[in-house]
Amino acid sequence: MTQYKYLLDEKELPTHWYNILADMKEPPPYYRHPVTLELMKDPPMPPPVFPMALIAQEFSPERWIEIPEEVRDVLKMWRPSPLYRAVRWEKALDTPARIYYKWEGVSPPGSHKPNTAVAQAYYAKKEGLEGLATETGAGQWGSALCFATRLFGLKCKVFMVTISYHQKPYRRIAMEAWGGDVVPSPSSETQAGRNILAVDPETSGSLGIAISEALEYAVTHEGWKYSLGSVVNFVLLHQTVIGLEARKQMEMAGDYPDIVIGCAGGGSNAAGLIYPFLKDRLTGDRPNLRAIFVESAACPSMTRGIYAYDWGDTAKTGPVAKMHTVGHGFIPAPVHAGGLRYHGMAPSICALLDQGEVEARAYQQNACFEAALSFAQAEGFIVAPETAHAVRAVYDEAMACKESGEAKVILFNNSGHGHFDLGAYDAYHRKELPDYELEQEKIEQALRELPEIPA
Ligand SMILES: *Cc1c(COP(=O)(O)O)cnc(C)c1O
Repeated sequence: MTQYKYLLDEKELPTHWYNILADMKEPPPYYRHPVTLELMKDPPMPPPVFPMALIAQEFSPERWIEIPEEVRDVLKMWRPSPLYRAVRWEKALDTPARIYYKWEGVSPPGSHKPNTAVAQAYYAKKEGLEGLATETGAGQWGSALCFATRLFGLKCKVFMVTISYHQKPYRRIAMEAWGGDVVPSPSSETQAGRNILAVDPETSGSLGIAISEALEYAVTHEGWKYSLGSVVNFVLLHQTVIGLEARKQMEMAGDYPDIVIGCAGGGSNAAGLIYPFLKDRLTGDRPNLRAIFVESAACPSMTRGIYAYDWGDTAKTGPVAKMHTVGHGFIPAPVHAGGLRYHGMAPSICALLDQGEVEARAYQQNACFEAALSFAQAEGFIVAPETAHAVRAVYDEAMACKESGEAKVILFNNSGHGHFDLGAYDAYHRKELPDYELEQEKIEQALRELPEIPA
């Protein structure tokens, strides 16, 4: 059987990142100050918690931003990543659709996340910093940053949500193997953590609390800054290497996608694949291209939230962004796709959604694991629970093609492997995986706490 696998030479690794803000009819509105709620028109955003080069990228109007040679050197460890055509899965589904996927599980930490972690570590090193502090839920982002900081000789401090720290030790062990300093959050190392522990010493923690701790750690330690793994423009920018490579690989395959799909927690892997193709729609070359961002029904910011200004973190210390949100105080059910449990979404994706340029969809976890198993049994790869959401959307689109007889071309981002999440597959097999029916009242309650924007 012919292997439909499209590989690029190292020389073809992109030299520039693609900045979609340059091609949007209207870019997302400015951030607002977390306390005064005033528009923050002039970067840097106070406090300057990120390396300055990243703050400049966040607001850059340039369409193409050069990737530093040192960053490309590290990315070459696993990039360009392969693109496959899922011929065996197409056959198993008996669909006329042609399905392609970009495989990001080839990076050492096993997902797309090091694409930005490497860039962030590089700029931190260049700025003369000693280390980066961050938060992590299930540990995918934390492991990507520990890996990247290590390669640039920096330290990494990770505040890991307590419940995951105890329930999912393998990612912690990986972070420690790369030299990271991982503490369960809330911890006694920050005022934010001590305040929470004083009230509830047995708390299981949350991503919102962990963000507050990492921010506090960064601003109270000389030579340290904060690092974020999704949502903001510069992270999505760094992820566009995925789509830029995929464009060349689709060309090798002699195809162009009708539909591009990615799962979305904060939106970085999906935007990374989608934006370089969406460029063609925005500039009028491919007006019918469909882009679908797939979220978890347990945290449905795009499909059931509202488009409004909200704080990026629970403690209300970070900037306020206009985005689709279910409210910064919303606590999602403990679904296995830990990376899809963020209350908001990348502001650029939200603006595109509002402008009708992209679509959003949500799925319950059982439907996702069903599709992920069908994919694994045909293509071999056992995908991350987050990725399984994209796989489900592809499955449904392929089935729609079977109904209609249309041979559409579908491309999706296979954002990472699920080797640390096999417990979730086990729960699915044992029929112990709950689907959570989210009551509208719970969302409305969280939305009552949105900031009141001054006129
Ligand atoms: C973190 C993660 C996601 C979700 O994050 P985005 O920023 O939305 O991409 C998706 N897939 C994998 C494998 C992840 O690790």
